[in-house]
Parts: sequence; structure tokens; C-alpha cells
Amino acid sequence: MITLIVATIAAFLLLAYFGAPVLWWTIAVGALLSYLSLIAGFGAVTKTTLAILFLGVAAVLNIPALRRAVFTDRVLAVYRRILPDMSQTEKEAIDAGTVWWDADLFSGRPDWDKLLAVRAPRLSAEEQAFLDGPVEELCAMCNDWEIAHELQDLPPHVWQFIKDKGFLGMIIPKQYGGLGFSALAHSAVVMKLSTRSSAAAISVMVPNSLGPAELLLHYGTDEQKDYYLPRLAKGLEIPCFALTNPEAGSDAASIPDYGVVCKGTWQGKEVLGMRVTWDKRYITLGPVATLLGLAFRLYDPERLLGDKEDLGITCALVPTNTPGVNIGRRHLPLHGVFQNGPNSGKDVFMPLDWIIGGRDYAGKGWMMLMGCLAAGRAISLPTSSVGGAKALTRFTGAYARVRSQFKTPIGKLEGVEEALGRIAAHTYMMDATRIMTAGAVDLGEKPAVLSAIAKYHMTERARTCVNDAMDIHGGKGICLGPNNWIGRGYEMTPIAITVEGANILTRTLIIFGQGAIRAHPYVLREMRAAKEMTGAEASREFDDALTSHIGHVIRNGTRALIYGLTHAAFAPVPRGASPEIAHYYRHVSRLSAAFAFLADVSMLAMGGALKRKEKISGRLGDVLSMMYLASATLKRYEDQRIKEDLPLVRWSVRDALYNAQQAIDMVLSNFPVKALATFLRWTIFPLGTPWRPPLDSRNRECAQIALTPGAARDRLTAGMYVPKGDDATGILEKAFVAAIACEPIDEKLRKAVKKGKIVAAPGADIGLLAMEKGLITAEEYSQWQRKEALRKQVIKVDDFPQDFGRSALLDAEQTRPLVRAA
Ligand SMILES: Cc1cc2nc3c(=O)[nH]c(=O)nc-3n(C[C@H](O)[C@H](O)[C@H](O)COP(=O)(O)OP(=O)(O)OC[C@H]3O[C@@H](n4cnc5c(N)ncnc54)[C@H](O)[C@@H]3O)c2cc1C
Repeated sequence: MITLIVATIAAFLLLAYFGAPVLWWTIAVGALLSYLSLIAGFGAVTKTTLAILFLGVAAVLNIPALRRAVFTDRVLAVYRRILPDMSQTEKEAIDAGTVWWDADLFSGRPDWDKLLAVRAPRLSAEEQAFLDGPVEELCAMCNDWEIAHELQDLPPHVWQFIKDKGFLGMIIPKQYGGLGFSALAHSAVVMKLSTRSSAAAISVMVPNSLGPAELLLHYGTDEQKDYYLPRLAKGLEIPCFALTNPEAGSDAASIPDYGVVCKGTWQGKEVLGMRVTWDKRYITLGPVATLLGLAFRLYDPERLLGDKEDLGITCALVPTNTPGVNIGRRHLPLHGVFQNGPNSGKDVFMPLDWIIGGRDYAGKGWMMLMGCLAAGRAISLPTSSVGGAKALTRFTGAYARVRSQFKTPIGKLEGVEEALGRIAAHTYMMDATRIMTAGAVDLGEKPAVLSAIAKYHMTERARTCVNDAMDIHGGKGICLGPNNWIGRGYEMTPIAITVEGANILTRTLIIFGQGAIRAHPYVLREMRAAKEMTGAEASREFDDALTSHIGHVIRNGTRALIYGLTHAAFAPVPRGASPEIAHYYRHVSRLSAAFAFLADVSMLAMGGALKRKEKISGRLGDVLSMMYLASATLKRYEDQRIKEDLPLVRWSVRDALYNAQQAIDMVLSNFPVKALATFLRWTIFPLGTPWRPPLDSRNRECAQIALTPGAARDRLTAGMYVPKGDDATGILEKAFVAAIACEPIDEKLRKAVKKGKIVAAPGADIGLLAMEKGLITAEEYSQWQRKEALRKQVIKVDDFPQDFGRSALLDAEQTRPLVRAA
């Protein structure tokens, strides 16, 4: 009997593990019942009753028409009643973009072979030349203090250079005079600029992200494209895109800005047009824009365009010199001096031709915006955050080696090392995510969920990195001035957190909310069958999706349990994977099965209420995100296979697994149905929670990479602008190299002082004393002197007159932009 029980459980577990079709289950149950009735010696009546029951259930399960009539059509009827109606804007947001690796992670069995087979994204020779030429030159031209403090804008020659070299037309194809760059190149340019000047990076980033050019490329009429794209590519037009209204920020679909279709006079002729009224704020490049991309809700009360009154959100291109357009005033976003400000208009008449895509696209603005955002969100903010993290790794590592306290470079003090190691490892994972996500866009994907993950986690990690870096810099990071290279970045970090979907909303509403519908293999099919289909078509589609869905839940639950019991020993590893990281694939596969199971049970238990339970859905989103970040990290390592980088991979993946585990733990602790929570915990963590935070020893290895000049540090910060001149960061680079070269000399001096051979009296030149006593050579003394001079420059902070020079500057040329803005 024990053998029979064990064999039965094993057989059922195997069927569930491999997701066997219902026929196999029927055969297995049939065989078991036959055997039981044989050995149990049932009478004829019992046998016949059992057989009839079995055949009845088997027929219902295996004959689709019968199954639909008895089971799925009833479920469909209930599902239709409880499934909340979706607004058109919600539907368009859900439908936007494509799914890619997120679908694998949602499936519970990611196909690692498929991921590793994706070619590592590469820049073309032309793109690399642009990075090494104009981008390098632009970085060298930018002096952040001058831009941010003295001019409060980019200097005119920098603006001109940006326009002349085509920076504003990176995404515009060559046929229209643009650079026609890949997403990877676009990202590499923004990243490099972000390591030098936030104002330059943002000014370049915005025309290349969601705005007139991108909307025209996807939806513009030929006439609109032929006229505007060449002008945008050459910087003859400065674009901005105005969606946000004081009343509608995150809930952008509710903008109260409106247009009314009417007849009017345009250039002396009567034409069909719209009278548009709007009030926008926070619009980047708005104050200097010549072309305003404007989103508003269009109404047609006189039915001049058709039979609908409320046509919906509409996007138009409005030249800013149009009479009635109020533009030009500035906001001051956390002292970031990129151009940003409000604009408005009241009853401004404009022809219908100004609608992007022409009158056929009246009312389709939200679909257009969501479609563009699905891919665009993958580039700008994730990329600028990676740029920030690379600069922080390089500069903070250097500073921690140059700055000493307690007679030790601070980077060697464990507390500082902990923060520095974190910065370095985050940077590796962030860059891996940037490259994988931009690579997906270049493959033709518009990865709506993955771009939201990249946006949220890259900007949040940048915030963690800058907080750590500020702590390591101490007062040096706090006192602003030309000698402070991180204070402005720290100040401006919340900007990236807020724009293109503020982070709280992105985490708690979008990542899992959209993922659960889009990336889940069956949920969207079930919803479409229920809401968009009728009759036999709905019945067949719903039946197929639902039965597959049930099999999917059983399979993932079983896999989660078996992986949990075996420490993921049987989970898949891709062919040709590097043995040193093979176990991580198994762990992420285990996590994927657990997540898929948990997600389904959560949806079942909470239904539509899950959308409002943002704490739960935020944590489910965290698990999905951690799997994506870990996948990107593993892929990056496989594409490069450089063993020196292993500590960064190990720290990051372990951290991701641990964070995912914490998120699952919190979901289970707060799960509304306690019995289900207990069942889920036994299934997902049958032997307790398996993942631990990264080890201190690993953290030390990561910090060492940031503290040591060489290939690993250069690789970690690859693509950033490495200053070569004599500005603050240029001096820092030199001081860093000099500090390391002088370490043996410092050691000799330390020993000499300790043994009393020289006396380190206040103000004494111990190098000179050591040289005079023959403890170091003259050459060593000169090397040490140079290092000391550089070190003193590095630790220097700026000071200003009592009134910060305001009275002296009032009449001076530099204050004009400030006065104008005020
Ligand atoms: C510097 C800067 C540049 C910008 N550039 C542009 C531009 O060029 N064009 C443009 O149109 N707009 C632009 N914006 C606007 C930007 O997109 C909005 O600021 C953003 O959408 C958030 O809106 P809000 O600031 O009104 O915040 P709110 O909408 O008031 O949100 C406040 C907080 O509530 C959270 N929240 C809101 N709803 C939910 C929810 N359902 N669940 C959970 N949390 C929620 C948000 O995450 C946020 O944390 C810019 C903003 C800034 C600051």
C-alpha cells in the first residue's frame, strides 16, 4: 500500500511538473481506479458506479463541447459579471507595446536558451565614432557649474553644437536628415552626457523621447513628416511635449484641456479647425520650444467630423509663435537648469491638419502616447540613471582612495567599503539592464512592462547610489561649488523618480498590474473572450484559455514545491551556460515558478480588488522586477564572460534573489486569506526561506573594483565621460592615480614616523624630512609632493562672499538669465 501511495504521488507530481494534458491525467486516474477496484475486491455495483462516475467526469474533461456546456460556459457567465469594465484609456494602456522576456518570467519556466541566443547588442562603427567624436567634444564643452549656477542655461555655443551635430535627431531616420541611431546608441549618448552635465543630457534626451518627432514617425502624415522631421533633425525646431495639467499629473488621461471642432479663418480662408484651451505645467524645453506637442481632449458638439461628440485625447503640433500661445516662463526644478516651464492658451484656433496623423487620428492621442511610451520609457530615464551611477562609482571610488581619515584611505574602512561595494554592484546590474532593454527595443520590441521595470528600478537604484555616495563624500558632497561633483546630482535625483510615471505609481500600479494582464500567458485571452467576443467564438476561446490556465497553475505550484524541496537542483540551466553562474539560473527558474503560482493564486483570491491592493501588487511587481534584473545581469556576464566581474554578478544576483524573497514573504504575511497564505508558504518555501543577502566578502570585492584603477573599473564605468582636463573631476582622476602610485612612499613615511625617525609636527613637511634623512629618494619626494598637491585640491571645498557675490553680480552679464527667469 505504501508503495502504491508513493508511486501514485510520484506519478501525479510528474504529470503536474511537466504540465501533462488532461488526457494523460484521465488515463492515470483511470489506471489507478482500475487497480484499486481490482485489489480492493469491490462488488459489481460499486465497480459499475465507479466506472460510470469516472467515464462521466472523463468525458466532461476531455470532450471540449461537453466541457464547455457543463463547466466553462458557466464560469464564463460568472466571469463576465465580476470582470470590471475597462475604460478606453485603460484598455489602450494595457494594449500598448509588446511582451518579451517578461512573458517568460510570468510563465514559470523561463526559456534561458532563448535568452542566451539573443545576440549581444553592439554599436555600429558610425555610432561609436559619434560617441568618440561629437559626444566626447560636447562633454568637454560643458562646465556644470557654469551652466547650473552662472548661466542657468546651456551656453549659446553649446546649444548650437547640439543642433549642428544632430543630437536632437538621433531617433529620426537618415532619409529625413536625422542620425537614425539604434536604441542602444541613443542610450549610449544620453548615458555619456549624463556623466557630465544633466542639463545637456536632458536637453538632448527630451527631443529624442516621447514628443513630436517620435509621434510623427509613428503616426504623422507624409506631409507632416516631410515638413517637420528634417527641421527637428537639424534643430531648426525645438520641440516639447505638453501633457501634464495642474489638475492631472499621474492621472494624465483625465486632462481638462480641451478643443472644440469648429470652422474658422486660417490664413485668410475658412477652414475646419479647433479652438483649443489648455493650461500645462512642468513642460521640459517648453520655455525655448518652437514646436509644442499638445495633448487635449477633443469635442465635436456640432458633429462636424462624424457622429461622436467626445472624440477623446488628441495630439497636435502647435508652432509656439501661433497667436494666443503663452510660453516662455520657467520653473526651477531642484536647481536643474534644463529648460522647463508652464504654457497655456485660451480658445486658440488651429486647423485640423495640426493633429498628428491628421483628422483620422483625432481622439487617438492616448493610444499614440501609450504606444510610444512603451518603448521610450526604456531609454531616457533608465539610461541617465546608469550614467549617474557610473559617474558615482568612478568618482566615489577615486575619492575614497584619495581622502584619508584615521591615517587610512576612507575606502578601506569597512563602513565606507560597504556603501561603495553597493554602488559598484548596483552599477553593474543597472548597466546590464540598460543594455538588455535597449537591445530589446532594437529587436523591434516595445516592452511596456520591462520598460516600466527599467524606469522604476534604475531611477531608484540611482537614488540609493547617490545617497551612499553622498555619505562617503561627507561635507565635500554638501558644499556646492565648482569643486563639488555630486551635490547637484543628489539634488536632482527626485526628478527622474517623478517624470514618465512617478515611481510609486509605476511600482504599485503598472509593473504587476499591466504585467499580470499583458505578460501572463492566459489572463488577457480570458478577458478578451469575456468582453470582446460572443457566442461560440467566446465559448471556445475562453474554454481553451481557462483550461490551459488551470494546467499552468497546477504545473507552477508543483514546480515551486519540487524546486523548494530540492533546492532547485532540477531547475533548468541553459546550454553552454558558464558553470560559475549556472546555479543562479536554477534559482531564478525556481523563483519564476513560485512567482507565477503566487500571482495566479493572488488573482484568484483577490480578483479585481488586487488592483486597489497596491501594497500587495507592488511587492508582486518587485518579484517580477528582481527576476528581470537578475536575468539581465546573467545575460551580461554570458555576453562578456570576464571572470574579474564575477563579484559584481554574484552580489547583484544574490541581492535580487533576497529582495524577491522578502517581497514574497511580505505578500504572504499580508495575504487576506490566511489559510491560503499558509498553503502558499508551504508550497513556495517548504524548507524555509532559502536566499540570504550578499556576503560581506563579496561586498569587499565589489568595492575593490571601484577602488582600484584598471580594466575592471574601466569596464564598470565604460561609456562615461572620463575627464582629462584640470577641472574638479579631472583633478580627482589624477589624484587617484597619484595616490595609488604613492602608496609605497606613504608606507615608508608612516613607518618612519612610527619608529620616531621623523617627527610629524604640525605643519611639518614629512616628505622633505624623510628625504633629508635618506629615507626616500628625491624622485620619490617629488612624486609625493605632486600627490599631496593633488590631494589638497581634491579635498578642497568652495566658499563664497557673505552675500554670495549677489551685489557684485547684480549688474554683471552672468545674472541676466537669472533676472529674466525671475
Ligand atoms: C522636472 C519635470 C519635468 C517634466 N517634464 C514633463 C514634460 O515634458 N511634459 C509633460 O507633459 N509632463 C512633464 N512632467 C510632468 C510629470 O510627468 C508629472 O510630474 C508626473 O506625471 C507626476 O504628476 P504630479 O507631479 O502631478 O504628481 P501626482 O500625480 O500629484 O502624484 C503624486 C504622488 O502620488 C502618486 N500616485 C498618483 N496616483 C497614484 C496611484 N494610482 N497609485 C499609487 N500612487 C499614485 C505618484 O506616484 C506620486 O508619488 C515633468 C515633471 C517634472 C517635475
